[in-house]
Amino acid sequence: MSELTASDRERLAREADEAAAELDAHARAGRALPVVMKAPKAAKPPRHWADLKASERVDAVLAAGLPKFRAGQIDRHFFKSASDDPHTWTDLPTAVRTQLADTYFPTLIAPLRVQTADEGTTIKTLWRLHDGNLIESVLMRYGVPGIASSGPGRQRSTLCLSSQAGCGMACPFCATGQGGLQRNLSAGEIVAQVKAATKDGPLNNVVFMGMGEPLANYKQLIKALRVMTGDMGLSARGITVSTSGLVPRMIELASEGLPVTLALSLHAPDDELRNTLVPINQRYPVLDAVGAAFAYFEATGRRVSIEYALIRDVNDQAWRADALADLLKGHGRGGAWVHVNLIPLNPTPGSRWTASRRRDEREFVARLEKRSIAVTVRDTRGREIDGACGQLAAGERSA
Ligand code: SAH
Ligand code: SF4
Repeated sequence: MSELTASDRERLAREADEAAAELDAHARAGRALPVVMKAPKAAKPPRHWADLKASERVDAVLAAGLPKFRAGQIDRHFFKSASDDPHTWTDLPTAVRTQLADTYFPTLIAPLRVQTADEGTTIKTLWRLHDGNLIESVLMRYGVPGIASSGPGRQRSTLCLSSQAGCGMACPFCATGQGGLQRNLSAGEIVAQVKAATKDGPLNNVVFMGMGEPLANYKQLIKALRVMTGDMGLSARGITVSTSGLVPRMIELASEGLPVTLALSLHAPDDELRNTLVPINQRYPVLDAVGAAFAYFEATGRRVSIEYALIRDVNDQAWRADALADLLKGHGRGGAWVHVNLIPLNPTPGSRWTASRRRDEREFVARLEKRSIAVTVRDTRGREIDGACGQLAAGERSA
């Protein structure tokens, strides 16, 4: 995997700042919903053990007057077992447990509402953060014996989690985007969602497809990914980071030595339509975003997912399927570097857009398959509880 030099990183950060300024100017010039790259300043969530690097954890136990080995012991309890309550870690002296609980294990996310669907195998939780902001995560179990709605195949589970409270990218078909960006999540708050999900059994996959644009919260994302793949022992291959296409950050991610799967939310093969559907396209157009996705594949060897929400009569025309195939095949290996994931649009309340007709969806799939582009239509788990991106939290806010 290629390494970025310090000056490369500076340049990428500068490019991201310039993009933010450009989009702000664009918003001030009269766009309906501004794209917001930088999260508003907010009081930091309490610091958690999961926010600390391994060396900082050792420093923390030493500062508390404890021997160094306690750090590893606490790591094993928190990251490898189901319990997140230090009071239950009985191999630690009682006084130490209380001290730890107070200092390093604050409650970062508290469940506000739990909804289930698919005979209990889809569980959506609305979480309240320390400052009252809301996020959501969805746990989906597959192949559960005796439960047909959990789908076929071996038993496995996927967590869809949030990386920000809200999102600043303003995609008009997305409930989260319509609510704007409240703030970035801390690494601890991201990890807390994973930790909560592992209480229900082992977790195979984690997808950053809940609320937020993960690459707009880059530092905390990387910190959380290192904890998840390092301390928690999750396979990087089982983790998917989904982005609306923040090109400099996609390039930076390729150099982190974290072979996670990248998903690019494309939704249109042409700039004209994508400028509307994914407003960040005005800064990072289709060719740049797809080019960065291909560069990610080249650097990591990980096949990239192209997300495409099928919206009736908006982006589901047969000619757009052909244009998408051309676009993807325009890069190396004739398209074998990508997998297209078609998502039937989950209409947001009051939206004029809806999912494609079945026959248009079938034709779209057939056109891609004919050109040997791998394609699947995403299952619609949790539809009846508004399983898609951001809808639960948005509903609660307006209630
Ligand atoms: N912000 C990131 C990740 C969160 S969104 C991104 O956009 O990639 C996760 C996925 O859900 C994205 O592909 C997004 O475009 C899609 N999505 C958002 N709202 C949707 C809706 N109403 N119906 C179907 N897919 C939706
Ligand atoms: Fe943000 Fe993703 Fe929703 Fe766009 S689709 S507004 S990037 S969460």
